[in-house]
Order: sequence, then C-alpha cells, then structure tokens
Amino acid sequence: MSASNPGHPEGVGGGPLVEGPHDPEHDPRASYVLEPEYVETLTRRVLATTGTTVPLTSPLTGAPLANIPQSSTDDVAEAYRRARVAQAQWVRVPMAERAAIMLRLHDLLLDRMPELLDMITLENGKARKHAYDEVAHTALTARYYARMSGKHMATERRGGVIPLATRIDINHVPKGVVGIISPWNYPLTMALSDGLPALMAGNAVVSKPDAQTMLTALMGLKLMDEAGFPRDLWQVVAGPGRELGGPMIERSDYICFTGSTATGKLIAAQCAERLIGCSLELGGKNPLLVLRDADVERAAEGAVRASFSNAGQLCVSTERLFVADQVYDRFVERFVARTKAMSLGATLDWEVDMGPLISADQLDTVVAHVDDAVAKGARVLAGGRARPDLAPYYYEPTILEGVTPDMTCFGHETFGPVVALYRFHDESDAIARANDGEYGLNCAIFSQDGARARAIARQIKCGTVNINEGFGATFGSLAAPMGGMRESGMGRRQGAEGIHRYTETQSVGTQRFLKLSPQFGLSSEQYAKVQVLALRVMNKLGRA
Ligand code: NAD
Repeated sequence: MSASNPGHPEGVGGGPLVEGPHDPEHDPRASYVLEPEYVETLTRRVLATTGTTVPLTSPLTGAPLANIPQSSTDDVAEAYRRARVAQAQWVRVPMAERAAIMLRLHDLLLDRMPELLDMITLENGKARKHAYDEVAHTALTARYYARMSGKHMATERRGGVIPLATRIDINHVPKGVVGIISPWNYPLTMALSDGLPALMAGNAVVSKPDAQTMLTALMGLKLMDEAGFPRDLWQVVAGPGRELGGPMIERSDYICFTGSTATGKLIAAQCAERLIGCSLELGGKNPLLVLRDADVERAAEGAVRASFSNAGQLCVSTERLFVADQVYDRFVERFVARTKAMSLGATLDWEVDMGPLISADQLDTVVAHVDDAVAKGARVLAGGRARPDLAPYYYEPTILEGVTPDMTCFGHETFGPVVALYRFHDESDAIARANDGEYGLNCAIFSQDGARARAIARQIKCGTVNINEGFGATFGSLAAPMGGMRESGMGRRQGAEGIHRYTETQSVGTQRFLKLSPQFGLSSEQYAKVQVLALRVMNKLGRA
C-alpha cells in the first residue's frame, strides 16, 4: 500500500487510499482512490461463488469504488454450515480468552482510525467527524463487552421452592448462529457492534451488511481477523436483502436486524414462523423538547448535532423540535444562525460539519418531503435546496416552520437533514405531541432542571431519552440498553440486555436432602398441611 497520499488530510500510510490523479486546485476529491489490491483483500472475505459482482460507487466523489461479489442461497447455506462448525469450537474457549481478543480489536480500531475514517467517508459520504462517532462507538462496544461479559454471562444463584433444600442456578446458554442484517447509515458500527456481544456469549455470526457499504463492514472484519477471532466464526454474505434474508432466517437461531420498520415487520413475521427470536432496531420520528428553563445556546448547539449528524440519516436523529413559548424566538434565532454557519462539504477533512446523503433514493425522499411541505405552506428558515455542486446527493441542512398534519414530513420519517419547528404553551401538550404517531425510538429534552426533565422522561414513549444532549448520552453509554418502543422496534442492544438476547435462559434446579414428596412417615394430607403452614410462614416472613 502507498505510504503517502496528498489528497489525504492526515497523510496516513498503510490504508486503503492510493495516490490518484492529484488535482487539488480543481477538485481534491479526484485523489481519493482505493488501492485495487486492498479492495481485493477485503472482498475475498465475502462467501460468494456466483461469479457475479455489483459495482459500488462513492457518494462523496461519484466515482466507482469496487465490484462486490454476490452470494447465492447456496453460499448462504455454506456460510451457516461453516459458522456452526466454528461455533462448536468457540463455545469451549474460556471467557477470558474471548475478552483478550476483543480488547485487541478495541486497540486495532483506534490504531487504524484514520484509514477507517477514510473508508467510511468515502463509501457513505458522511462527514469525517460523524465517521469518528461510529469508530468510537465500535471501540466502546468492544471494551464494554470484553470487560462485562463475564459478569453478564455468569451463572446466577436464585432462591428455590424450599429454602436451602432447593438450589436454583440460572445459566445463559448461547443460541448458536446469529444472523445479522445491517443498514448503510452507520456502516462500521451497525455491521460489527451487534455481533460483538453475540460472539462474547459463545455464538457464531453470519452477517449481511447493506450492499451500499460492504467495504467498511469488510474492513471492520479484517480487523477482527487480525485481532484473533477464528475466521469461520464470522461469515459474510453479500446480495439483496429480499433474496438473502429468507435463506438466512431459515438457518438462524436468532436474527438481529437494523433497518426500516417495513422490512422489520417482514422479518418478524418470518422469525415467528420458525419460532426464533429477533431484535429489531427500526425507524423513528424523534422529538426534541426545549423547555422554558433551557439554556438556549446549549439547546441550539445540541439541536444542530441532534438534527444534522450524518445528514440526519440516523435512526435516533431529531426530526421534530418542540420549543416552549417563552424561549421560542431566542432559540430559533440561535438554531437558525448555527445551522447557516455549518461548513458544508464533501471531502475527507475534519472541518466538514455535514456530508452528502448516501444515494439518489435518499435525496429523492428528502426533496419530496421538503417540496411537499413548502407547497402546502411550510416556511423554510434554513436550507431547503439540493447542492449538486458539492456532491451528487447533497442536500442542505433544513429547518421548517409551519408544518401541519397534512404534510408528509409531519409524521413520516424523512431520514435526512430536515427538522420541523413547533411551538408549545404547556408541557403536558408538548409531551402529548412528542408521543403522537407510531414510532418511539429516541427523545431529547433540554432543561436546566435535571429532576424535572427526568420526570418528564417517564411520560415519553421512547426507548431512550437524552437530557441536554440529542442522542449521544445513551448511544455512547454502553451500559444503557437501546431500542424502540411501538413501531420503532423490539429488543435492546447494549448493556446486559444486548448480550442476553443472544442466549437462552436455562434454569437448573437441584433438590437436596428434602424430597418434594411426603417423607418422615407423613400421609399426603399431613404433608399438604405442613406445606400450607410453611406457605403461611413464608408469607409472614415477607419472602417472595
Ligand atoms: P432497509 O430496511 O431497506 O434495509 C436495511 C437492511 O435490510 C439492508 O441490509 C437490506 O439489504 C436488508 N433488507 C432489505 N429488505 C430485506 C428483506 N425483505 N429481508 C431481509 N433483509 C432485507 O432500511 P434502509 O432504508 O436501508 O435503512 C434506513 C432505515 O433504517 C431507516 O428507517 C432508519 O430509521 C432505520 N435504522 C434504524 C436504526 C436503529 O438502530 N433503530 C439504525 C439505523 C437505521
């Protein structure tokens, strides 16, 4: 691999970029070229024998990046066969050894950060600072489960039916092979982080990353190989979800899916047919509340990050902003000013505040939502335009006012850099409007009274609530379970819940010195009387 790259902001060697037709004066992005040998190393890891490939194009430059080999249903079957063999070995590897490999992965993620940021930005289009968020999240996940899996997976002792005489042990037994279907919006952390606790629990993984971001997922997997995970323990297949999803579900012991609510429902129905479990991390129409006692400057800064991180292509991103009457004008003035001051661009530089959308489909949805709102009377306070001069699918960070229920973006997820402002008079009204609709993923509350904000949080129908922060407080805290209520999903990632979902709970009861039948010459009737007496005593003693 090349040792230097003039188009690269950090001039990093050893990464995927090579020197392209360098023409920084005209367009510095012309020099962002992937080394073919490196790409070849990555794509060889896909289990694919069809001989067909699908081209991958960069939303940052519009240039081709790679041809991704495509898997058949036979390849999916072979991936599961190999994963099962590997899992049978892996389950015998002591937890401390699994944790040591995981911690090596943690360090490799940090060591190779510049190359990972290049690849994520090139393949997904997001700003480098948002690519950093996901490398950090993947490293946090590796460290959390390396350190905590021993505790979460340990056999638990609980009280039995006859105190002392009945011993109960609760085991967490791995499911077997977990199928992971992930989206393109956080291509590194969505592809890897759900799988790390699955491995720590003793499972194998078959993963199908989104077709648009295969290279980032494969780069993450390369680091896992380097860290020392057995190669066959993590299989990758590539192809359209609607073709490979069914064959994966047929062979999985559990499915972890992240993507749209529509696809999530299809997957849930197929898992139900086989009576296998699944966790579904789906869409949202996330509210942010600015209460009357909020620090307005902090709320405006937080709202910019909450709404426009990763160009709004983030499941926990804010799309509805409810602001108290008392601070509405001040907040809007600061929020609009900060949004207009954002540095827009499509380069690998740290200075870019927001990158382009990933695809023409995403751009079409954003354009349709904004145009529909404007045609029906919404006002554009910032943005509101596509910017093909910056990148093929660029859309400006956009603030709308006057959005009404007849407009598409009122209740439908845009999944782009578009946020609607609403004024509220009293907090119960704001809570009711925040809870409106079918989703329930994430809510943010800005207030200087933490206790009051936490009391409001209990009334919000969302799986996560962040106070004085858009989403990072829960997303970055690996001990905090994350997931959706209502149509935003089922199950939780992160924390103890994030590893226990990949296990079956097994109760082992050991009966010692007293039998669960009449003894000491008691008749059945006398035995029942003794038991009733014992039940009354236990109740008096306040035992569960
Ligand atoms: P999508 O549902 O179309 O695709 C997601 C993944 O599912 C891809 O890998 C795709 O190939 C696969 N897939 C598609 N159809 C399938 C099928 N019939 N069977 C099996 N797999 C199939 O979602 P998208 O539009 O690419 O992603 C954006 C959506 O994902 C948004 O709605 C967003 O809110 C949601 N999302 C949620 C989270 C979360 O954690 N809650 C995170 C990221 C994205």
